[in-house]
Amino acid sequence: MEQPLLELKDICYSYHSLEGETPALSHVSFRIYKGEFTAIVGPSGCGKSTLLNMIAGLTAPESGEIIFHGGSPEQVTQQPCTLTPSCPRIGYMLQHDHLFEWRTIYQNVILGLEINHMLTPERKERAIQLLKDYDLYKFRDKKPNELSGGMKQRAALIRTLVLEPELLLLDEPFSALDYQTRLSVSSDICSIIRSTGKTALLITHDLSEAISLAGRILVLGRRPATLKCDIPVRLTLTDDSPLASRNAPEFKDYFNRLWKEISDENHRQPEFSGKI
Ligand code: ADP
Ligand code: MG
Repeated sequence: MEQPLLELKDICYSYHSLEGETPALSHVSFRIYKGEFTAIVGPSGCGKSTLLNMIAGLTAPESGEIIFHGGSPEQVTQQPCTLTPSCPRIGYMLQHDHLFEWRTIYQNVILGLEINHMLTPERKERAIQLLKDYDLYKFRDKKPNELSGGMKQRAALIRTLVLEPELLLLDEPFSALDYQTRLSVSSDICSIIRSTGKTALLITHDLSEAISLAGRILVLGRRPATLKCDIPVRLTLTDDSPLASRNAPEFKDYFNRLWKEISDENHRQPEFSGKI
C-alpha cells in the first residue's frame, strides 16, 4: 500500500486560558498522499487554522500523533519526523502576503533562503526562473506597494516555493483579495502548484473554490472540529483549469453535497458565517 506523506492520528487539542478550556480539535485522523491537492472546509471558528498550525509544527497536539514521511532520496533512511517550525520541508502561506515593504520583490522572494542559510547561486537562479515563469520578473526591483494584491500573493507563493517544500500549507490565502482577482489568482496559484507536482493542503471557506481547485475535500464539523467527511472530487472536463472546472456538469452536485454537510452543522449550532 502506498505510504502517505502525512499522517494525522487521533489528534485532540484544547486552548486553555484563565476563563477556561476551549476544545478545538477532537480525534481528527486523516492521511495525505504525495501529489494530492486537498481542501479543508468547515464552519468558521471550528479549528481549521489550529489544525494547520499543528501540521506546521507551530503547536503540539495534546494527544495523538502527526507523522511526516517526507524526505529527499538521501534522507530515506531517516525515520519519519515530527515537523518543527524550522523544518524547510513544509511551506506555509497565509491570508496576508507578509511581504516586507522595505525589500524589493526579489529580496522578498529570497528571504526564506537567507533565513535558512540556503542562498546558493543555484537557488538564486531558481528564484529568478520562478519570477520569470510567473510574470513577475520585470517587477523584481519594485517594492510590494507597487504591485497589485494578486501579484503580491504570487510573489509570496514564489518565496515559499523556492524553499522547495514537500508539503504546502495554505490558510485562506485568497480571502484578502476582491472576488474577481480572487478567481484569477486562485486559478493561477493552483495551476502553479499542480505544475510543480506539490502536495498541498488548502483551507478555504469558499465551497466553489474548494471544488474547483482540489482533488479531495475534507469537511470538518463545528468546534471542537471532527472530520465529518472526506470527499474525492472528480470532474469530467477536457480543460481542467480551475476556472473552467466551475462549468463541469458535476460541479453543482458537489456544491449541494458540501452545502448540505455544512448546513447540517449550522442546524446543530448556528455558527457558520462562511460565504459561498
Ligand atoms: P478557524 O480557522 O476554523 O476559523 P481557529 O482554528 O482559528 O478556527 O480557532 C478554533 C477555535 O479556537 C475558535 O473558536 C477560536 O476562538 C479558538 N481559539 C483560537 N486561537 C485561540 C487562542 N489562542 N486562545 C483561545 N482560543 C483560541
Ligand atoms: Mg482560520
